[in-house]
Amino acid sequence: MKKFKHHSYFAKSSQEQQHLFPHVCFSCRKSFKKPKRALARLCPQCHEPMVMLSRKFSALTMTDVDQWRKVEYLVSHGFRFQSIHEQPNGSLIRYPATFAEAKLFVEDYAGRVR
Ligand SMILES: [Zn+2]
Repeated sequence: MKKFKHHSYFAKSSQEQQHLFPHVCFSCRKSFKKPKRALARLCPQCHEPMVMLSRKFSALTMTDVDQWRKVEYLVSHGFRFQSIHEQPNGSLIRYPATFAEAKLFVEDYAGRVR
């Protein structure tokens, strides 16, 4: 008898609830991995509401001010590191690496997010 269990045997709903998402505070330049919640989570440090980003966002160091500035700029335009696909071929669009690129990115793709 095989001991291996297909992943579908495991409770899916509880697993999904445990997915952690990066929540960022732009004032403190910190990110915290927390489960998704309808209400905005408050920053444990300054108690301001944090912004939840896509799991594709990777944490930045506090001192990387230029990168934080870029991320804040993107978020303020509705880009939370969710996947954006090129039309009509559907290829995935890469997020910009620098603040200067982010400005062009927002101009090009502003219509792709709500
Ligand atoms: Zn904070």
